[in-house]
Amino acid sequence: MIRQKKLAAGSNSSVVVERCQVCDSADLESIIFIGYLPPVNTMPTIASRPAEQPAYPAEVLRCKQCQLVQIGLIVDPAILFPPTYPYTSGTTKILRENFAELAQEVSQLYPLKSDDLVVDVGSNDGTLLSNFQRTCRVYGIEPTNAGKLALEKGINTQISFFNRAAVKNAVSSQGKAKIISATNVFAHIEDIHEIVDCILEFLREDGIFISESHYLLPLIETTAIRHNLSRTPPILFGDGAEVLLEMHGMEIINTRRIPTHGGSNPCLCGSEGKVSGA
Ligand SMILES: [Zn+2]
Repeated sequence: MIRQKKLAAGSNSSVVVERCQVCDSADLESIIFIGYLPPVNTMPTIASRPAEQPAYPAEVLRCKQCQLVQIGLIVDPAILFPPTYPYTSGTTKILRENFAELAQEVSQLYPLKSDDLVVDVGSNDGTLLSNFQRTCRVYGIEPTNAGKLALEKGINTQISFFNRAAVKNAVSSQGKAKIISATNVFAHIEDIHEIVDCILEFLREDGIFISESHYLLPLIETTAIRHNLSRTPPILFGDGAEVLLEMHGMEIINTRRIPTHGGSNPCLCGSEGKVSGA
């Protein structure tokens, strides 16, 4: 599988994207350069003295081979998602509603038993998982302190980045998952092939993976792209998530458009030939 040689993770710095992060093609075309942007959600306290702040070049690239649109620079996730990262999904009404709807839809398509496990990657304050909490076992993996809010709500959460060690730890204590969701996660992850491998390792053979990513056009139309670009990790738009999942033997079973971030698409996926229905 394709692996970027030099990783931004752990570098306390950034790495320029030279090859497509999904298909490894070097045939990348620059679409637009937005400028230098600081990490989003870094909020100095009111009246605090101005201080030097890092900023990163935000160039949008398109892969001519697989059409994936991606940001041309990867920033160390420790810079973008420090423990103090202030964003919590529970404060956004549209997210709460979409998560509730998604949980209802999934539960209807794939009825859950009380000992089934539902996992959310980048579970933040547990807003999505709270919809499953009364039906079955839930488990979140979240690198920021938002995970502590989930723990306070009784949602079993491992405070960690999602990686092989975190998955090993989770599988040994919880077993494998029937449902794994990752909403707006691929857009913020450096080694996306590694993440898909980790998800497959955590998922039961008949399990369902839910991926939710942004649509490119509404992001541009609603200028949400400015907000999202300022995160500066490799954002995946368009068909990129589909190409990526198919490379790992997953098939998309169901998708639709929802209004989150100007337009997103929750995709329900399973291992090819292992799931039915929907
Ligand atoms: Zn590509």
